[in-house]
Amino acid sequence: MRAAVVGGGLGGVAAAVALRRIGWDVVVLERAAEFGEVGAGIGVMPNALRALDLLDLSSEVRSVGTPRVAGAVLDPRGRRLTHVDAVHQDQVVAVHRADLHRVLRSALPAECLVTSTEVTSTADLDADLVVAADGIHSRIRAELFPTFPRPVYSGATAWRSVTSAVFPADLMISQTLGSGTEFGVLPLGDGRVCWYAATVAAAGHAVEDDLAEVKRLVGAWHDPIPAVLDATPPGTILRHDVHELKAELPTFVRGNVALLGDAAHAMTPFLGQGACMAIEDAVVLAASLREHDLPTGLAAYDKARRTRTRRIANASRAAGRFGMFVRTPIATTIRDTVMRAIPSRLAIRGMTRFTSWNPPVDSLDR
Ligand SMILES: Cc1cc2nc3c(=O)[nH]c(=O)nc-3n(C[C@H](O)[C@H](O)[C@H](O)COP(=O)(O)OP(=O)(O)OC[C@H]3O[C@@H](n4cnc5c(N)ncnc54)[C@H](O)[C@@H]3O)c2cc1C
Repeated sequence: MRAAVVGGGLGGVAAAVALRRIGWDVVVLERAAEFGEVGAGIGVMPNALRALDLLDLSSEVRSVGTPRVAGAVLDPRGRRLTHVDAVHQDQVVAVHRADLHRVLRSALPAECLVTSTEVTSTADLDADLVVAADGIHSRIRAELFPTFPRPVYSGATAWRSVTSAVFPADLMISQTLGSGTEFGVLPLGDGRVCWYAATVAAAGHAVEDDLAEVKRLVGAWHDPIPAVLDATPPGTILRHDVHELKAELPTFVRGNVALLGDAAHAMTPFLGQGACMAIEDAVVLAASLREHDLPTGLAAYDKARRTRTRRIANASRAAGRFGMFVRTPIATTIRDTVMRAIPSRLAIRGMTRFTSWNPPVDSLDR
């Protein structure tokens, strides 16, 4: 059986690895001239690590990611709203996106990966299965669901970068919630720090100097935020308006095409689960096709993934509403008081509701 994967982002490459594990021939068609990922970090949650386990890639991802450290949600003065000890953590691993992409690619032979190829229609592809992993603005989705609403602006814009300097090994993973703005610190295995800042803003909010704008928003917040920003080379900052697919696709499968990752369910990043869902999709697709013939396998994939991804997308939107979209001083005080009152054990349980997912099979090997 032969699959053509449209799009070589994290989702497309993970799908290619998973499908090859069940014995399929796979080609990944990527429109960019090179495979790779943007210069930012990504939180790989325990659910995605379990999916990567099935691809035998989780230990490599762990080796380039965050060491076992504590995690906390803080207020801008550095006071704890929630705290998770290192020993209790079902560990989140922060990795540089380029490293995660490289680890996934390393499991594929070079001839699987074709660059500079923009797919304009599924009709052009000669394959038993087409995996549409062409991202939030998916052309394949538009072809198959021409009346489906386009992605919408979430109301937040985000900046991301990585420090050039190295920070102490025990630096916590943290998310700091202010009023209308949040900041995240994700230490990498090599001591550099990935960070993101997000703020409520009108769509298309562009400034001349992104680093200066982030410093204006959070430069006076607690340590190590000022030092992290000072250690960020100017000109390395990515800014994106955050969009999501608010409407729910009626199906992730049309004929022999399976939508996967952001093409199927682009969500807000407030739970850090978008790429994790794409990696889960990849192993569930392969597991379903290993167990069944093509139509039944695709139906099983659709059933398994639509419910789960919708639940996570809704929870992610809600996390944003309770987090950075809280803007007035009184609402911020109420939010912070509620968060402080929640015992850490319950906060952990709240998170594990989403991260306790397990792949449907123990192995993808035939
Ligand atoms: C600010 C921010 C922070 C985030 N943080 C996290 C996080 O911590 N954890 C997490 O899990 N997720 C996070 N996400 C979400 C995550 O980045 C996405 O969900 C994930 O990258 C989607 O992967 P994908 O492969 O589905 O799509 P993409 O990464 O968009 O890949 C699509 C690929 O398809 C190619 N392509 C597009 N059209 C065509 C075509 N017609 N022909 C050929 N190729 C094509 C593109 O060039 C691209 O390479 C975050 C997102 C944002 C915006």
